[in-house]
Amino acid sequence: MSLERRFLLASIPAIARVAPVWLAAALVLGACQHGAEAPAAAPASADEPVRSAPVTAESHMVVAANPFAADAGLEILKAGGSAVDAAIAAQMVLGLVEPQSSGLGGGGFLLHHSAASGEVAAYDGRETAPAAATPDMFLDEEGEPRRFHEAAVGGLAVGVPGLLRMLEMAHKDHGRLPWKDLFVPAIRLAMDGFPIPPRLHALAAKDGYLRAFGTSAAYFLDSDHNAKAVGETLTNQPLAKTLTTIAETGAGVFYEGDMAEDLVSVVRHAEVNPGRLTAADLKAYRAKKREPACLSYRIWLICGMPPPSSGSVTTLQILGILRNEDLAALEPNSEDAVHLITEASKLAYADRDTYIADPDFIPVPTAGLLDPGYLVLRAKEMSPKAMRGKAFPGMPGIGGAWNFGPGGGGREGYSTTHLSVIDKDGNAVSMTSSIEQAFGSHLMVGGFLLNNQLTDFDFRPERGGAPTTNRAEPGKRPRSSMAPTLVLDETGEVVMATGSPGGARIIGYVAQSLIAALDWNLGAQETVNLPHFTNRNWVTELEQGTDLEDLAPALEARGHEVRLTPMTSGLHVILRRDGKLTGGADPRRDGISRGE
Ligand code: GLU
Repeated sequence: MSLERRFLLASIPAIARVAPVWLAAALVLGACQHGAEAPAAAPASADEPVRSAPVTAESHMVVAANPFAADAGLEILKAGGSAVDAAIAAQMVLGLVEPQSSGLGGGGFLLHHSAASGEVAAYDGRETAPAAATPDMFLDEEGEPRRFHEAAVGGLAVGVPGLLRMLEMAHKDHGRLPWKDLFVPAIRLAMDGFPIPPRLHALAAKDGYLRAFGTSAAYFLDSDHNAKAVGETLTNQPLAKTLTTIAETGAGVFYEGDMAEDLVSVVRHAEVNPGRLTAADLKAYRAKKREPACLSYRIWLICGMPPPSSGSVTTLQILGILRNEDLAALEPNSEDAVHLITEASKLAYADRDTYIADPDFIPVPTAGLLDPGYLVLRAKEMSPKAMRGKAFPGMPGIGGAWNFGPGGGGREGYSTTHLSVIDKDGNAVSMTSSIEQAFGSHLMVGGFLLNNQLTDFDFRPERGGAPTTNRAEPGKRPRSSMAPTLVLDETGEVVMATGSPGGARIIGYVAQSLIAALDWNLGAQETVNLPHFTNRNWVTELEQGTDLEDLAPALEARGHEVRLTPMTSGLHVILRRDGKLTGGADPRRDGISRGE
């Protein structure tokens, strides 16, 4: 068995405990390259703990996709900040050091649990389509869908960035430190510079579009159009200036005035695909506080983001369909476990693709989809032994489908980021944010990249003569798969925070992490290390280069069409067990857990 394959089954703590630090680091870094498109980052300094070693804490914890971001979150928690405060500080740093994934130019979803009130709140900072958006905006002259990347780069797919308005709203509700304090770590790092992480370098090196966009090329590439070297110090004075202005003036300055006009001008005068965004679109943007989507699962209540994300409803459906199965009796990632979970997954994705889009535009039967009686009926459609063909959507309560066509969102990009925080009072944040594809639209303004989130709309606005639920329309939010999740026990305390990047595979990653921690009782790091499998109502995908490959013949014998593929999740998990917090940072990315 190769080191890489052993790594995914072995626990890193064991490696870290028995080996000298430098050897453990080398093993972990080598192992991190399994099936991933980009190598993981080296520790930022010699005294940096070995990444992916589990971190245990008594009081508070943050797990994020980059050590500088986790440090910023911890700094704020130590200063008495709340979970929301720490999430904002960490997010601002992520926009600098992991700019290909998320930032001011994108959107996200933040799930919050207040220990004092018991309330779980879902904050929606999803991008919106401009007023000039049309259902056919991603069709070519022949009326056929454009190729993905042809549509994704440049101004056309840029939605109104919602991240900052969402963070402002969450801060008004749950912030403890002043807004401006939360920007200090990111401003400091943008001015002083940070070493280019290997993952940022690798993604810039393989990106074929950056060179076509002057500002981005100058920032990420050298004069020969090669990606700037790993470890080279990168400063970002424009971002330091943008962050300073936002810190001093508030989020509004981003949506109206000079900053907004610069953003609009970059989109409308893009080198490629000039876009339709206007200053009025930015001014009109509103973040939304929504009711979370929750499901009782065994002794827990699991809550996630409601539509316009399909992520949590679909994840919860998978668990709800499996609720009567004795998953705890199955070996983690065994043949029976993979079969059952992928069968449930097919049914849930069939519903997702049919029913879920922006609830402000179409009636989404969220309650019906999570209704216990409906889920029992759906569970009866599972085949315990042999894989049946493609699943059809069910009929969940009232509200309904416009169109029973296949849904979009089949790609897995290399961007998006997830962070989890629990503060000393037990308040928790689970937040996933994104600029969609790696480097988003590739347009840069004010030191940050703009999203291409509108490509999450269906490119085809109609199927069989009926409008698709997720077609582009003015002011509409494209359907997402992001699934920030919190798990509460019977006392109302948060016992798990989880979430991941991964396009439409996010759902499979998050569902697996929940089953791993809740049913299989794995630790936080073991949970994120588990090799992945998904079925998006199509083929059964197994993570390439892992022991799951060995299950392929048996699954094929049960009727699965199997594909081996890299699966670059970025699960960042916190578990609370026996009064202690433990963090799990996905070895497939650069993340780390920090806590005390
Ligand atoms: N744009 C995707 C979504 O909202 C996330 C992209 C990714 O994770 O790769 O579902």
